[in-house]
Amino acid sequence: MKVHNFNAGPSVLPNEVLYKASKALIDFEGSGMSILEIGHRTELFMNVMDEARSLVRELMQLEDDFEVLYLHGGASTQFMQSAMNLLENGETAGYVDTGVWSYKAIKEAKNFGYVDVVASSRESNYNHIPKQFTIPPQSKYLHITTNNTIYGTQWQTIPVTDIPIVADMSSDILSRQMDFNRFSLIYAGVQKNMGAAGACMVAVRKSVLGKVSRKIPTILDYKVHIENGSMFNTPPVFAVYISMLTLRWLKEQGGVAAIEKVNEKKASLLYSEIDNNPLFRGTVVKEDRSRMNVCFIMDKPELEEEFLKFCKKEDIVGIKGHRSVGGFRASLYNALPYESVEVMVEAMKYFSLKKA
Ligand SMILES: *Cc1c(COP(=O)(O)O)cnc(C)c1O
Repeated sequence: MKVHNFNAGPSVLPNEVLYKASKALIDFEGSGMSILEIGHRTELFMNVMDEARSLVRELMQLEDDFEVLYLHGGASTQFMQSAMNLLENGETAGYVDTGVWSYKAIKEAKNFGYVDVVASSRESNYNHIPKQFTIPPQSKYLHITTNNTIYGTQWQTIPVTDIPIVADMSSDILSRQMDFNRFSLIYAGVQKNMGAAGACMVAVRKSVLGKVSRKIPTILDYKVHIENGSMFNTPPVFAVYISMLTLRWLKEQGGVAAIEKVNEKKASLLYSEIDNNPLFRGTVVKEDRSRMNVCFIMDKPELEEEFLKFCKKEDIVGIKGHRSVGGFRASLYNALPYESVEVMVEAMKYFSLKKA
């Protein structure tokens, strides 16, 4: 490993994945061509796409009604595309506003129907997940952001409701066990927990599609992508390949159940240092703490710059907090080794002693 990479996204990838991909860049599967040079309709690539899609299905244990797609445009395109495909003009969808990303999803959904913001933690700088809220029964669906990358909060339980749930899982997909079948549409930019930048994974139930009357542009119609096996146009070949390798790696680790245990260990090690070290303080309410993005600040902000420099010297990178929160954010995605968190915690201890 080169450095301890706590970047929020794009982020750390397993070494095995990088090594395999570097070979594929020169000669993919003995074809004499780079993965970047093969046709997307060749068997070589079709196998990659098929394996990636079926690994998602397997690792998430999705029911047969689900279809898995790899699309262009990142999660940000899904803010608009999900509403365009699911929300009829004049109908209402419920959204929970738990951070910048949900806020953006709300803004885009308003282009297609009414949005009822059923709860928001905006007033408290998104330091918690709203607990008490009612979902109007006529809502077409409920949209949540399962993990709030910028603020470091995470839904610990999924709301119980009869209406379909749509979820942006960009920053905690496949990091913990969850009944994914409770959802009707799940989307995730793959650059955080399932690969490199360039694609967005969408898992959608066929039964929720085809119900709006508006004309959907072909490229934005989920049904078209499903009919074409996620190959309606040239897919982001390299991003899908890296994602496939990352999912293979996850399966080799023992899948979601196994990685969840490691993720819990990493998060509790770091949070307990934050709670016990007088120099640092967490920024969100404890019960909603994210196991993926750990946000914290210093009681003496004037030391923050110095701590960042110190970390850099220790090969710890990517821990500067998002500008809207300040302080620090350590992202502990699946591919981040436990050892990196140990190094981070050692650095916090050492720095704190030096300053005492
Ligand atoms: C990173 C992130 C996004 C944005 O993803 P893009 O692929 O850059 O569009 C959206 N939602 C969440 C929760 C994220 O963490």
